[in-house]
Amino acid sequence: VAGLWRSNPSRDRETERVKDASDIVRVIGESISLRPKGREYAGLCPFHDDHTPSMYVVPAKQIYKCFVCGSAGDVFDFVMRFHKMDFVEAKRYLAERAGITLEPPRRAEPGAAPAGPSRTDLLSACATATEFFRGVLAHPEHGRTARALIDRRGITPAMADRFMLGASPDRWDGLVLTLRARGLDPVAFVDAALLRPRESDGGLYDAFRNRLMFPIQDQVGRVIAFGARRLNEEEDPKYINSSDTRLFNKSATLYALAQASREIQARRTAVVTEGYTDAIACHQAGIGNVVATLGTALTREHGAVLRRMCDRVVLLFDGDEAGARAADRAVEVFFAEPLDVCIATLSGHTDAKDPDELLKRPGGREVLERVIAQARDVLDYRFARVRARLAGAGISATSRAIEEELEWMGKAGLADVPPVRQRLIIRHLAGVAGVDEGTIARVIPAGRSGRAAPPAPEREARAEDGGESSAEAFDLHTRPLEAREHLLGCVLCDPGLLGTLGPDAAPLLAPEGYRSGLLARLAHVVGEVAGQGGSPDLSGVLLAVGEDADLRRSAVVLASRIDEQTERDPVRLRQHWDSCVTRARLDGSRVEAKPGADLGEAIERIRQRQAMHAALGADRRVLPRPG
Ligand SMILES: [Zn+2]
Repeated sequence: VAGLWRSNPSRDRETERVKDASDIVRVIGESISLRPKGREYAGLCPFHDDHTPSMYVVPAKQIYKCFVCGSAGDVFDFVMRFHKMDFVEAKRYLAERAGITLEPPRRAEPGAAPAGPSRTDLLSACATATEFFRGVLAHPEHGRTARALIDRRGITPAMADRFMLGASPDRWDGLVLTLRARGLDPVAFVDAALLRPRESDGGLYDAFRNRLMFPIQDQVGRVIAFGARRLNEEEDPKYINSSDTRLFNKSATLYALAQASREIQARRTAVVTEGYTDAIACHQAGIGNVVATLGTALTREHGAVLRRMCDRVVLLFDGDEAGARAADRAVEVFFAEPLDVCIATLSGHTDAKDPDELLKRPGGREVLERVIAQARDVLDYRFARVRARLAGAGISATSRAIEEELEWMGKAGLADVPPVRQRLIIRHLAGVAGVDEGTIARVIPAGRSGRAAPPAPEREARAEDGGESSAEAFDLHTRPLEAREHLLGCVLCDPGLLGTLGPDAAPLLAPEGYRSGLLARLAHVVGEVAGQGGSPDLSGVLLAVGEDADLRRSAVVLASRIDEQTERDPVRLRQHWDSCVTRARLDGSRVEAKPGADLGEAIERIRQRQAMHAALGADRRVLPRPG
């Protein structure tokens, strides 16, 4: 039942230390915006298409839970799922964040089937390459051209460090020779799009040659891909990116997000530029909420990332033409995500050709701040262009053009916007288009989907996992619970309740008594933790469960349901427990449960400890309330 690492007690303690050092509100708050709500925090759930804050983070229990899709867990679960890490990666990430040094990882099990490179292997290939490229940049001879380019662009050494800039050498085997010398497996480098197989003989060559290297990081700062600018002006193209890999999806990734995420959340606004150097120049000038797309327009996937961090996205373009070209897609993103999408263009404010050039001029930063502040929302922007195009045209030509524009917006997704937001948008459109709201409503076709369908992602995720236990974990979120299931949930909320039972009551919590296979396993873990003298509260059980996501989720869901039902009131919890004990004893006949020797002993031990504490008047935290 328990995870592999469980057999190692020092690793257990280590996991516990990492968990204690990682406050869940802060960790989740680094990725999505959380707002206080009573004793909890609420935010948009990143695991389903959430439009109202459905995810709750409970500091007292150090868990999160989504009321719509049912995803739930502790800080490890969130990090694993949000950042797509496995348990070991998540632990390492949290440990690093908290400044905890971990024991070196175990060697792979002998006899284990040789598998292809894991995501971790790809990440470490990217880290190795980053280090290699930085070494080349620092090299007196091989890094000279690249350093000269960095100088010419006015990028300070501090910024070059912050964005980990590097250089690929002017040869086809620089990286190949480096890994060979270090005895590293090249397959992970091929999978990470850093090396390519030659068609002629299957040998390998470097994917990047003679270029200034811009490592592309994910939101938590791990390098997942590279952008590269030519160093020889004769060569084409000027910029290239890594091709998509298991780590890297170009149309969902934003350059500089790791460096910008704090500032984006603080200002509730993200500025999106067209290139790496523009983003770096903005950061260098002290405008820290700036990211860049990787040669694509803003996509819905970008919108989904950003809307969890801010309310407003400003797309910053050099010229009107680029702005106009991007506006179509920007409107689609605006309709698809609850984000205000605005467009700002430099032309009209300055003759500087891009933000980089502008920021090098005296007073350039002030001009750029003004351009960003005066960005027009994308609907306003489009209608301004329609009107400019039709200046001087007759009334009927103008109204025809506006109608066409509105029809196009209906098809671009306005018809599918949820009703409340749609009404707000229509009101706004009526203003910018100069027509009444009724006209707009008539022009917009009925929604394709109506968006009324219940949220599906968790169901999909379930189909993906394919497991029966996933289905069980999902149903646990809503189905009525049996008496002994309530008991299990009560123990997770307050293990001290076990002390109110006689040792003969152990069968009430025996795994055999649970119809649900998942809860039987949970009961087994509770018995095991208690049997070993541990505290089988939610966090103790999560530590013992290991990596089984369904089991972890069912523990959190079960405990939360008891919390909701008893409103976290210890007196109500005790009453609820007592009545469920009575009910469970009544339908106990169903089960010929063995008296779970461990749990029986544990119950006895808890009783004795409580009696002793009561006599001494000592720490009452684990005691059942007098009743
Ligand atoms: Zn959710």
